[in-house]
Amino acid sequence: MHRSPDHADSRQQDLIIDVVASSGVILISVTGCQNFLNRHAMDDCVMLAIWLENNRLSLRNDLPRPQAGPGQAVVRVDLAGICGTDLELVKGYTGFTGVPGHEFVGRVVQAPDRPELEGRRVVAEINIACGHCHQCRSGRERHCLHRQVTGIRGANGAFGEYLKLPVTNLVTLPRSVRQRQAVLAEPLAAVLRIGHQVEIEAGMRILVIGAGPMGQLIARWLQALGNRPVVVARYPGQRGLLADRGIDWCAEDDLKPFRWWDLVIEATGRPEGFSLARRAVRAGATIVVKSTYEASLDLSLAELVVDEITLVGSRCGSLEEAVRWLASDRIRLDGLVEAEYRLTDFQKAFEHASRPGALKVVLHP
Ligand SMILES: [Zn+2]
Ligand SMILES: [Zn+2]
Repeated sequence: MHRSPDHADSRQQDLIIDVVASSGVILISVTGCQNFLNRHAMDDCVMLAIWLENNRLSLRNDLPRPQAGPGQAVVRVDLAGICGTDLELVKGYTGFTGVPGHEFVGRVVQAPDRPELEGRRVVAEINIACGHCHQCRSGRERHCLHRQVTGIRGANGAFGEYLKLPVTNLVTLPRSVRQRQAVLAEPLAAVLRIGHQVEIEAGMRILVIGAGPMGQLIARWLQALGNRPVVVARYPGQRGLLADRGIDWCAEDDLKPFRWWDLVIEATGRPEGFSLARRAVRAGATIVVKSTYEASLDLSLAELVVDEITLVGSRCGSLEEAVRWLASDRIRLDGLVEAEYRLTDFQKAFEHASRPGALKVVLHP
């Protein structure tokens, strides 16, 4: 791994050598690191990561490198995607403090209970369930009452060199899945979730609002199912990508007729997306909401009742299913990752990801 000399210097200063043992093994302790590691390299104890605190992101080089306890695994991150949820986290959605990042592909470096996984390339389920509450006991682990969510709630995420997860959350990748596809496994799983919540019938009139990475993925999934969705797309790059795949798009202002669509999927990440969805959907039909925004919504509940609109909140899906889709080549994810930045350039990366019309921006350590 390349680090600038300046960086290496500041990193060295954070290290305090505590004990030097004989037999060539150095036992060290590091500022901010609770673990005494019986390792050869000082690098083993700390890592580089992006830290979110009080709506501010910063680069830290003093975070303890995670160590796998029983049932856990440590993954070295190869690529991690910035998503709309991360941008909302910075605005204060969920009040998370820690290392963000929940879309990633990496390699297992430590898995005491499953040593056969070490060296394997993986993606991971991001919900860390307690296994005991009534939701977990009913098979709804993603809605565990006490869950942590990697990079979003209570657990450090993938915008660092390493992260720790329960070993049962890992899904290994076949060699055929390329890195830039694998990094999209988590958002793809979220898209596939829609298929478990709403029945996609033949000939259904489906409108997707928003043509960012999520909207593009939804449209490709629907197309793979044999549907012909229309996507409301604002930006030329996003429109071009849809057109290249033979997917119909329209501008917001040209959307007609209203109150016509059997299913509207809102994936803009903005409250305005929902008002458009509300106008577009026919009475008796369904709106699936994929956006998670920090702002609250001005919504007439009575109108939804009178029109008998079904509102479906839709979050995470099965990573195993996503990997099966990727491996089967049923869906192609080319063209969705538009930029890659080093962790040290995280400010540029976040600025890029917040640009109107941006597609997926990924980080690598
Ligand atoms: Zn995401
Ligand atoms: Zn639980």
